[in-house]
Amino acid sequence: MLFSRYLLPVMKETPADAQIVSHQLMLRAGLVRQTAAGIYAWLPLGLRVLNRIADLVRREQDRAGAIELLMPTIQSADLWRQSGRYDAYGPEMLRFQDRGGREMLYGPTNEEMITSIFRDCVRSYRDLPRTLYHIQWKFRDEVRPRFGVMRGREFLMKDAYSFDLDAEGGRASYDAQFTAYLRTFAALGLRAVPVRAPTGPIGGDLSHEFHILADTGESEVFYDSALDAVDLADADAPAMLRGLYAMEAEEHAKVENCPVPPERLASRRGIEVGHIFFFGTKYSHAMGLQVQAKDGTQVTPLMGSYGVGVSRLVGAIIEASHDAGGIVWPDSVAPFDVGLINLRPDDALCATAAAEAEARLEAAGLSVLHDDRDARGGEKFATMDLIGLPWQIIIGPKAAAAGLVELKRRATGERHEVSLDDAMARLKGPRAA
Ligand code: ATP
Ligand code: MG
Repeated sequence: MLFSRYLLPVMKETPADAQIVSHQLMLRAGLVRQTAAGIYAWLPLGLRVLNRIADLVRREQDRAGAIELLMPTIQSADLWRQSGRYDAYGPEMLRFQDRGGREMLYGPTNEEMITSIFRDCVRSYRDLPRTLYHIQWKFRDEVRPRFGVMRGREFLMKDAYSFDLDAEGGRASYDAQFTAYLRTFAALGLRAVPVRAPTGPIGGDLSHEFHILADTGESEVFYDSALDAVDLADADAPAMLRGLYAMEAEEHAKVENCPVPPERLASRRGIEVGHIFFFGTKYSHAMGLQVQAKDGTQVTPLMGSYGVGVSRLVGAIIEASHDAGGIVWPDSVAPFDVGLINLRPDDALCATAAAEAEARLEAAGLSVLHDDRDARGGEKFATMDLIGLPWQIIIGPKAAAAGLVELKRRATGERHEVSLDDAMARLKGPRAA
């Protein structure tokens, strides 16, 4: 992709209305534009990141056995009357009427809709267990939308819903999502801590929020510092993490005998990027979902729901990975793999070398943003650091004459003058890993 033909409005100045670093960097790096309070347009570069995150979330959902479908954003109020939540939900729900005066709403979540779909499609125990998910926009009229996409009004969520015949099955479905979440966040280059959340009347340990520990987080989390030592890549990580104590401050305050010795109790701020919840028959009972059991009786399936804040993750990843120069994207979600900087587009040798490098990188399956603009070198370097592509390949007249390029790793600032072949070999290495 040629920079000169792309839509990438970068800003030098820090926008005054953005309080936290991820919001500032998302605006400065041309990822999003606010179009109304808490509502954002995803510009081309931002959309590439959002899509990559959604793809990784999808990959881990599929691996965990969940099945993708797509439910609409607009729902009918009648559906929500069946569960009793239409009146209970409050002003966060955006309500309106269609031309026929029918009451509609923009979905803040989809428990009612998935329950009605399941009720229409499934009759027999043979069709259970199932976990279904979609990745779809939600609207919640938040009192205080803030921090850019972290607390927007319109936001992208992955929400999954499990249906089981008994509590044991429900726990297994919950555990599969728990593990999928740890894998998802690790694949995104994040360290997410599962925090026990209140379960209401069901009790037990079947609700967790997943938090990224960062100073700008909206919640305070108390946790057993033994958590810091758990290697999330370890196959036993889910079991180890389930056993360790972590709780939001508000809940922690209600715990009378904290099981963690004081010297091991740590506290940090956290960004909630996921929430999983087993709620039993709450919606299936209210909405009359029943299936025939093996013995011919009718049973009410047990359900859970599992959310990931896909658009919030873009901000959370930046909070966790940036430096003074700008964003430092993890390889797995970067909008392009390589930023190719031609320092002298007016020089025939440089132009040829840059075009060849772009073509060969793309042929090797790498995505490239090629800065071919007629601009000063300093500006190009600053822009490339700001937008945070993991690798930079810099082409200038001296190196080009010697058949070399400069390869820079964004995260470390390390630079090497190498041949294009060597550069490509290094680039392929970490991606393949
Ligand atoms: P919060 O406590 O942050 O308001 P929630 O408990 O309302 O979150 P859920 O209903 O569990 O959130 O939604 C699942 C996920 O969707 C959350 O873990 C979060 O990552 C994301 N999310 C929720 N509200 C927003 C929002 N206003 N903007 C962006 N993402 C959000
Ligand atoms: Mg909320």
